[in-house]
Amino acid sequence: MVGDTLSSVAVIGGALVMWRWQWYIVDPILSILICVLILIWSWRLLRDSVLVLMEAAPRHIDIELVRRELVRGVPGIHDVHDIHVWEITSGMYALTAHVRVDDIPVSATMAIRTQTAALLDDRFDITHAILQFECQR
Ligand SMILES: [Zn+2]
Repeated sequence: MVGDTLSSVAVIGGALVMWRWQWYIVDPILSILICVLILIWSWRLLRDSVLVLMEAAPRHIDIELVRRELVRGVPGIHDVHDIHVWEITSGMYALTAHVRVDDIPVSATMAIRTQTAALLDDRFDITHAILQFECQR
């Protein structure tokens, strides 16, 4: 919307310049500038869309940091491995991971799951986490 507004303002400004001073070269110059801006915005949109469709890991999320934060920040977690993070849609992230805990009942993993989800949401904006709990035997 800002881009559309700026383009419109530039076109109106160009029209005023041409009307006042008859500098008709302003018209093609503005057209080329607006085309370049549209190409840049299109390229970014295309790149982001391809990354979402390819389920690429978001660049700003450090998987090793996620692992360390979970082991340090959630009591009961001994290790986290096989972590996958991807972007479902713009700004919405999902995660799958294996979480190693003690040999505890399934009901006891609920508190760990809740704390893990809260930490992932707070620290990394990951709002959808699928966890596989494992124990060492
Ligand atoms: Zn595993």
